[in-house]
Amino acid sequence: MKNSGYYSQFGGAFIPEILVPTFDELESAYLAAREDESFWQEYLDIMSTYSCRATPISRLDNLTEQLGGAAIYVKREDLNHTGAHKANNVMGQGLLTKRMGKKRVIAETGAGQHGVATATMAAKFGFDCTIYMGAHDVARQRPNVFWMEQMGATVVAVTEGSQTLKDAINEAFRDWVSNMDDTHYVLGTACGPHPFPEMVTWFQSIIGTEARAQMLERNGKLPARVYACVGGGSNAMGIFSGFFDDKEVELVGVEAGGRGRGPGQHAARLAYDDATVGVAQGYKTYFLQDRDGQMQDTHSVSAGLDYVGVSPILSYLHESKQVRFEAASDVDVVAAMQKTVRNEGLIPALESSHAFAQAYAEAPSMSPDEDILINMSGRADKDIFTVADAVDDPKWRQFIIDKAKEYSEGMTNA
Ligand SMILES: *Cc1c(COP(=O)(O)O)cnc(C)c1O
Repeated sequence: MKNSGYYSQFGGAFIPEILVPTFDELESAYLAAREDESFWQEYLDIMSTYSCRATPISRLDNLTEQLGGAAIYVKREDLNHTGAHKANNVMGQGLLTKRMGKKRVIAETGAGQHGVATATMAAKFGFDCTIYMGAHDVARQRPNVFWMEQMGATVVAVTEGSQTLKDAINEAFRDWVSNMDDTHYVLGTACGPHPFPEMVTWFQSIIGTEARAQMLERNGKLPARVYACVGGGSNAMGIFSGFFDDKEVELVGVEAGGRGRGPGQHAARLAYDDATVGVAQGYKTYFLQDRDGQMQDTHSVSAGLDYVGVSPILSYLHESKQVRFEAASDVDVVAAMQKTVRNEGLIPALESSHAFAQAYAEAPSMSPDEDILINMSGRADKDIFTVADAVDDPKWRQFIIDKAKEYSEGMTNA
């Protein structure tokens, strides 16, 4: 890997001239923090007292026996505050915001998880907070919007374009251009212009550092394979980075296979060969785009993996064959989640369930002497509406109908 934000041909910072000083300021603050051991100590302190670090590793005893083959272990990022690895990134950027003396944070969010995590951090640190979210997503994700607003954040429903994540990103950049002096943009994944991919990876590397030590301590050896789901790529970069120097450990990134092959049906940028290299949203990577560079629609049962681009660092690791990429279909993902809930009492998020699906498919053909490690990036409480629909639970449907009835009767009484 090269420095200054390029990983072979991928990465860079394609930003408007006016933002250059802000990115320089951010890069300097980030590099200074890396040099300063007290910064990382402060980060570890807050992650252990406010979130749930170190997160444990759990062995899936029942499924290891049922599936045969490799022993299956899970890194429990679901135990973080707000229920996912996103806490690692937002708390790190929050500390950096304090260091830069800024008082306001903004963020983009798709399904709302990153918005909730950022609003949480802002409430804790006493920052003003504005979250940009496509109007379409605001309508679909009311529970997350509810919590963001309870935490004091202003949620702006973006009505431009397709009214989803990419439009929210554009709006957040527009805000930043007008408010650079007092505002930090808390980008949610290992994408975007340099230094975000590298900086977000640094904060998330806490996952891999812990996991490597925990596997060694527990089993006296490293896992043969490590699985992580890939949306923008931050949880994958986080756990993989613990094992980059271990050539015997195979790293497997699992993307959203959605409904299958074909434009608009999935969000697999690296596992399939539909994506092409381009520059958008300030960085160069593989994008799902048509021949004219128009971004394509994507689909996934999990909102968090439903994105057209991918971390430039993962594009590099794909080309240099240091990470193997696979895609798991919606149907297999929901089945893997149900299997995990039923047999282990763990409730992986639909995003994380992509990694579980791929691991369950491969474990049986491996040796019982081998261990595999799955990154459980988050928990699925947030997915209850989607999952209950997918398994078509009649009692859940009745609950929603009754709730709606209660409200409409309440309104007629009033
Ligand atoms: C947001 C999210 C993801 C996808 O983001 P990455 O940057 O690819 O990690 C994955 N899992 C969960 C639980 C999420 O909330």
